[in-house]
Amino acid sequence: MIELTDKKKKSLLEKYRKRYGKCATCPGCKEYIRENDELEKVEYIKTKRGTEIFLHRGCFEKIWR
Ligand SMILES: [Zn+2]
Repeated sequence: MIELTDKKKKSLLEKYRKRYGKCATCPGCKEYIRENDELEKVEYIKTKRGTEIFLHRGCFEKIWR
């Protein structure tokens, strides 16, 4: 998990949306994560393969137990 500022998360979400043509989806609850969401509750993960994942902090705890 990478600690990022909300501003940085926002710019990463924007980039993601432009690259994939859709908003990022939380793999835990399947809800969209948008730039205007409460980003302090959003985590950003980049896998070794370069896959970018955005998810809610609560959902992160549910998935990675
Ligand atoms: Zn979620």
